[in-house]
Amino acid sequence: MPEHPSRRRPARLPAGPALRRIWNAVNLTTPLGLVLALASGCAVERGPLGLLLATGYRWPVPDGGAFTVGNVVFFRPHTPITPRLLAHEARHATQYAWCAGVPFLVLYAVAAGWSLLRTGDTASRNVFERHAGLTAGGYRERPVRWPRASA
Ligand SMILES: [Zn+2]
Repeated sequence: MPEHPSRRRPARLPAGPALRRIWNAVNLTTPLGLVLALASGCAVERGPLGLLLATGYRWPVPDGGAFTVGNVVFFRPHTPITPRLLAHEARHATQYAWCAGVPFLVLYAVAAGWSLLRTGDTASRNVFERHAGLTAGGYRERPVRWPRASA
């Protein structure tokens, strides 16, 4: 007799996202994200690729429609959750994993400061945002204004 579809176990995660999920739990960034989700009153549900979706984020920082802490992806109330934006945020989750978790926050802040200095915004020359995909993250690339190209 065929199993009822709702009884089926969910499809197994591919190795990469499965490792990322475990490692971001162990390095404590996913637990940190869940604490932030709880404190800020977000609803949390399971998303694709081992991600957790925290919706209804209203605190003023960080600005932008979405951001990621460990494997937890936060969305402001009017941000549409599109596959493209999810792919962008999933790359940030992978960046957390490569940076062993919490150091990512420091490295990201440095990269955002460097971008701000050069272009006037925190994303255009931020290596992490460029790697995750600027336009997929909702950013427009701004021209480099410092250091200026020599005439
Ligand atoms: Zn991003």
